[in-house]
Amino acid sequence: MKREHLIKPVLDHHYPTIQYGKGVYLYDDQGKAYLDASSGAVTAGIGHGVQEIIDAMLEQAGKVSFVYRSQFTSEPAERLAKKLSDLAPGGDYWSFFVNSGSEATETAMKIAIQHWQEKGRLGKNKVLSRRMSYHGITMGALSMSGHVLRRRRFIPLLEDFPVVAPPYCYRCPLNKTYPACGLACADDLETAIKRIGAEHIAAFIAEPVIGAAGGAVVPPEGYFKRIKEICNRHEILFIADEVMTGIARTGAMFAMQHSGVEPDLMALGKGMSAGYTPMAAALVKDHVMEPILKGSKSIMSGHTYSANPQSAAVSLAVLDYMEKHQLVEAAKVKGSYLLARLERLAEQFEPIGDVRGAGLLLAVEFVSDRISKLPFPAGLGLTSRIIDKAFHKGLLVYPAAGGVDGAGDAVIVAPPLTITEAEIDLLVQLLEETVREVLQEISG
Ligand code: PLP
Repeated sequence: MKREHLIKPVLDHHYPTIQYGKGVYLYDDQGKAYLDASSGAVTAGIGHGVQEIIDAMLEQAGKVSFVYRSQFTSEPAERLAKKLSDLAPGGDYWSFFVNSGSEATETAMKIAIQHWQEKGRLGKNKVLSRRMSYHGITMGALSMSGHVLRRRRFIPLLEDFPVVAPPYCYRCPLNKTYPACGLACADDLETAIKRIGAEHIAAFIAEPVIGAAGGAVVPPEGYFKRIKEICNRHEILFIADEVMTGIARTGAMFAMQHSGVEPDLMALGKGMSAGYTPMAAALVKDHVMEPILKGSKSIMSGHTYSANPQSAAVSLAVLDYMEKHQLVEAAKVKGSYLLARLERLAEQFEPIGDVRGAGLLLAVEFVSDRISKLPFPAGLGLTSRIIDKAFHKGLLVYPAAGGVDGAGDAVIVAPPLTITEAEIDLLVQLLEETVREVLQEISG
């Protein structure tokens, strides 16, 4: 293998070098255009090269780019925390700023554990999560994740946090059907709590819409209301991982607003700065902060770049841009247009088993047969083939480990919320060509 210096995700793979981006397109150094139908990793929510964000960046850089959080605060960080609290479900959230979604979920986990410690409940330090979940790649976040493939290499080093059934109605892990099931997947949390003992559990973490570990899996009506009610009854904090769903992506500023539930903590990342700078946050409700404010008055976590003024200024500019261009509404309207187009695609291809999602976080799941819903053999690498073929055609879509415990194929389609209908039409045309060609290849 050729000696290089940059560690890339797959070391012997050729990754084109991107020169610039504008709107929903990225352009490489060979002049090839890529329609960014995944917003990178569901991140570039307002598209690339937006002048207002560049202006905000330059303005803040002209003042100060970095201050150390143990010495100073900054105006952008203070304004951003207030703004997020105003936008979040029910308000009254404090923000702990970090640099990635993994740090956000891990910080939320630490704050939840500290909350109980400050109350003298020292045994409450496990975090429950779900099979088919992804909360990040650092060891704490990975311990809370059910993503089989991403955990595999590190299992001996991970905390043994229990997982419960995901709300995956297309292929229910409890072999039930909604609504006759009576939300058995939510009740699975209560069964686990009784088995483990609430006195050992600090929090339960879940994605409002399952992202990378399932592919835009939306829970059934009433699921999160039941989850929150179970958590409250057993004195367990509920952490909503809004890293992928947050900041307008699903047609609400926070996806939890669809279910009318106010989480005790939330994790934000990705869309928060729309990819212009690294920025993420753990959001903490007043009542969770209370014992900490009365007790040690300090949270034992944080990073050198936490609450970076440059990133906070960018994030404020992104939120302003979203409000100015009504992108929450756009995610809803464009999302239903794209969903309808993908459903039409499913009518053409028998192996498209399911099309689902919320707002502009959508996914297509592939099955070898629609009746049995059996996935294609793993060795076929169907998801990778679709991603690669689309890439070759200049279309970016995002892989998801569709199916229970990753045994399935799904691709996420989540373009910037600024995408036009004409661009959606082109996206679907390229995806249709991709699916047709890949299915032809594997059938013969
Ligand atoms: N949580 C969710 C729901 C995610 O989708 C991701 C990333 O895909 C993360 C956490 C981790 O975020 P990051 O990759 O920024 O560390």
